[in-house]
Amino acid sequence: MNNKEENIEKFPKFMEWGIITKENFKSIIDIPLKRWDPLSTVEIKTKSFGLRKNKRYSGHFSYLSPIRASRPISIKEKSEKIDCSKKIHHIEDVFGTITEGKKMYDDKGEIIRDGKTIIITEDEKRRDNPFSFIPHKIEKIPDDCKAITLINRFPSMARVVDDEVMNEIQNNIPLNSKVSIGINLITISRHFYPALCLNNIPEDILAGIFSSMKAAILYSVEEAINRDYYDILVMPFFNIGRKVGGSQPRIHSQVYLDLNGDGHGSRLGGYLKAFKEMKTCHLCVTDHEDSRVVLKTEFWTFYATGSPIRNYHLRFYPHEHVRRFSNLKINQIIDLSRSLKIIFKALDDLGVESNRNIIFNCCPYGYDADFHLFGDIIPHEIIGGAEMADDMRVARKLPEENARELRNIINLDVS
Ligand SMILES: [Zn+2]
Repeated sequence: MNNKEENIEKFPKFMEWGIITKENFKSIIDIPLKRWDPLSTVEIKTKSFGLRKNKRYSGHFSYLSPIRASRPISIKEKSEKIDCSKKIHHIEDVFGTITEGKKMYDDKGEIIRDGKTIIITEDEKRRDNPFSFIPHKIEKIPDDCKAITLINRFPSMARVVDDEVMNEIQNNIPLNSKVSIGINLITISRHFYPALCLNNIPEDILAGIFSSMKAAILYSVEEAINRDYYDILVMPFFNIGRKVGGSQPRIHSQVYLDLNGDGHGSRLGGYLKAFKEMKTCHLCVTDHEDSRVVLKTEFWTFYATGSPIRNYHLRFYPHEHVRRFSNLKINQIIDLSRSLKIIFKALDDLGVESNRNIIFNCCPYGYDADFHLFGDIIPHEIIGGAEMADDMRVARKLPEENARELRNIINLDVS
């Protein structure tokens, strides 16, 4: 039994911002774990996927993070009805205390939000070190800033762990598990814009979010390499709406940087293998039979994927053969922001479910793999049944038909 004084509130609390210290560590049961499924996991043998310093796997894994259950969920069912035409501050927005540099009190004068954070980038400017142990209150963010990138206060992976505690954990952890180490970034707009109205967010703000994410990824990867981490998986994504995991009403994106250096999930594994076996890059040569193309701009193509995992599942890719989100240049970022707004408006006009995920599929750092960055836009849909257990989906409509509907709306809008 530990003799820690449970009644004294420690700061930061266990696992806030992914911080584990002698002071806040209580029990091995709460440690975030990464666990591979032995029935769907194989060892990676190829030389091109990583540095091979230790055993690496491809297959299904889960991040287990008991502490995640305690994070604040700010969107309630009723508040999803947000008037997109107004730039209003939202009462349930937890990020306001951070951007305004103020604490928030309840009616009785008790602090409910302390405004503390670890800020990695302010627009593209570097601020706190991505491995910082010290959350703090920041000065009010300047009004002309577009977006800031923070360490997620309620992450699914540990980011920094005291050496002493790490030794204790390693000796007591369940077999076939490992402490899940990584950085969870969250990028928010400086001013409040509702997450569910992506097509109403100014283009330069959306571009600001992408630029701040990119700068924070580069800073985090650089610092991680300095600390001897290698084979770093980087997963940028948006969860837009509560039904797809977005717990906050303000527009925000996230990035998972997995620092476990032990391989990649089966979906990314499939992409890496497919690109490896292509004689020429499919995305560089294909025209998607034209009938599935939804929007083609100077820098990007959006199309309805031929084998959707949900109805209206769209894919998009930059015309330049780049491997990672962090390779994108400013003109590609601006064009992407403009295009995403057009696509989201068309989906809204068609009445497609407004809860959507945007996922960027990137080549991990340290991998010598030929890969072409691409993204997925996946509207929420309830699925159950046998699809959950297998890598197959049943879509109700032909992607060609989805693409035709979206093209018609986009053409009407621009003419
Ligand atoms: Zn390519």
